[in-house]
Amino acid sequence: MFGAKPLKIGIVGLGKIVVDQHIPVIRANKKLQLVAGCSPSSRPEGVVAYNTLEEMLSAHPDIEAVSVCTPPQVRHDIALSVIAAGKHCFLEKPPAATLGEAESIKAAAAAKGVSLLASWHSRFAPAVEAAKSWMKARAIKDIKIVWKENVRQWHPGQTWIFKAGGMGVFDPGINSLSILTHIVPNPVLVKKADLHIPSNCEAPIQVEMDMVSGTVPIRAEYDFLQTGLQTWSIYVEAASGETMALHLGGTELEIDGKIVMKEKEAEYAGLYAHFLDLVRSKASDADFSPLRVVSDAMLLGKRIEAPSYVE
Ligand code: NAP
Repeated sequence: MFGAKPLKIGIVGLGKIVVDQHIPVIRANKKLQLVAGCSPSSRPEGVVAYNTLEEMLSAHPDIEAVSVCTPPQVRHDIALSVIAAGKHCFLEKPPAATLGEAESIKAAAAAKGVSLLASWHSRFAPAVEAAKSWMKARAIKDIKIVWKENVRQWHPGQTWIFKAGGMGVFDPGINSLSILTHIVPNPVLVKKADLHIPSNCEAPIQVEMDMVSGTVPIRAEYDFLQTGLQTWSIYVEAASGETMALHLGGTELEIDGKIVMKEKEAEYAGLYAHFLDLVRSKASDADFSPLRVVSDAMLLGKRIEAPSYVE
């Protein structure tokens, strides 16, 4: 595979993110080859598809790596089967429904000697590294995350999101935490969280959360009921009074009130290039710190009943 031959990939779970990102990005990269996919019912155009992982791997034993893009609740068992079959494993975010499951996948990949990528696509947003450099050069006073989107617009029909293990508003919110944990030097600790859970759901629809990293206070506001302007921003204030903000999930960088970078998103191209590097160098990248923050919020958070949610 390291000469002219591309890495042969299979995909499990042929839903929205696979159609929007994985399939076009794999097809656009000559070093990757999409061999087949599997999913209970979805059949994206042009993809050789099977009902189960077992059927896919038995029809295509030449598959070398598998991207697991199902909802998180079923990831663990699928990832263990992928690894047991000796395939490299690319996990969509979040890596699993619990930290225990994520650690179990990591241990299995290490024992089998295959590469594991616990992917965090937002870390590959174009302005994230510049934001990290800006912060490294300054004493930081405080950080605020505002992540507000309309679940009806972005997640139609995805009933798994409001089931236990689906994480509710933390499904997009964990993207902000993947950026946060990447750009601050110290671990992020949850101090307080209010979890608003609709009476007919098992996961939060809104969350307000206080965290710290070292001595830096961090406030986060997550809202799945945002209509109108959609916001995926992180605001940082330095002790000097200078300010920096990441907008639109990390595609825009604002310094002292001026937009200094505005790029098209190309996160998945970067993610797959990273996965290829890992496979090539027989390495893994499995950082679960964003999942740990969500897990801590669920442990520590106060549950507040919210009006029932109807899509
Ligand atoms: P989705 O549209 O609901 O797709 C999930 C897919 O998984 C569905 O096609 C479903 O099958 C399939 N599936 C469910 N159970 C399965 C099983 N046991 N075996 C194989 N396939 C199974 O959700 P999504 O938006 O693509 O999200 C999937 C994951 O990607 C989530 O963890 C999410 O956080 C992450 N993600 C989503 C986005 C986004 O913008 N949507 C962005 C980045 C990351 P059928 O359709 O065949 O029934």
